[in-house]
Amino acid sequence: MRLVLVGPPGAGKGTQAEVLSRKLGVPHISTGDLFRSHISNQTELGLEVQSILDEGALVPDSITNEMVRKRLAESDATDGFLLDGFPRNVAQADKLGEFLAVDEHDLDAVLEFRVDEDVVVERLLARGRTDDKEEVIRHRQQVYRNETAPLLSYYAEKVISIDAVGEIDEISERALAALNSLRDEK
Ligand code: ADP
Repeated sequence: MRLVLVGPPGAGKGTQAEVLSRKLGVPHISTGDLFRSHISNQTELGLEVQSILDEGALVPDSITNEMVRKRLAESDATDGFLLDGFPRNVAQADKLGEFLAVDEHDLDAVLEFRVDEDVVVERLLARGRTDDKEEVIRHRQQVYRNETAPLLSYYAEKVISIDAVGEIDEISERALAALNSLRDEK
């Protein structure tokens, strides 16, 4: 399956992606993790994006798109993937469509994780990543509302919304159930 996960910072996308990736047998590709790994390895790309991540702003599309294009071309992603954190705006979504169209592929679904913003601020402050300071979190939420939420209408009929409040297992069950019924429909 080729899936995209969408949800505000702190919705638990990363946590759910780990579970779903195992159950569905497709790689979990997180742009946030890819950037953080470049930063900790102090690669050229890492040095370029570090301050952007610290501010909670978006890395320029040219850098992000190229990183994702290369990752999707790796052999483990040929039959499916779970994209977490990409696309994050409509221009990136257009690019993703182009990358997939090269092999006549398409997304199967876009999973939207729904949570209340104030609930997630608490969760993120508890996590304590370097970009998990209250004002940076608020900025990331604003970026989500302005840039990323429009993807929900962009992908319209592909979107499956999941209530992301509750126990981790409960939420994975909801997501898997929704994906199974999608598979049955096909
Ligand atoms: P969160 O789930 O809290 O939003 P992520 O780990 O997905 O955090 O992303 C952390 C940061 O990495 C973002 O705030 C942004 O700076 C950068 N980033 C991740 N994905 C993208 C993307 N698709 N486009 C631009 N920047 C991105």
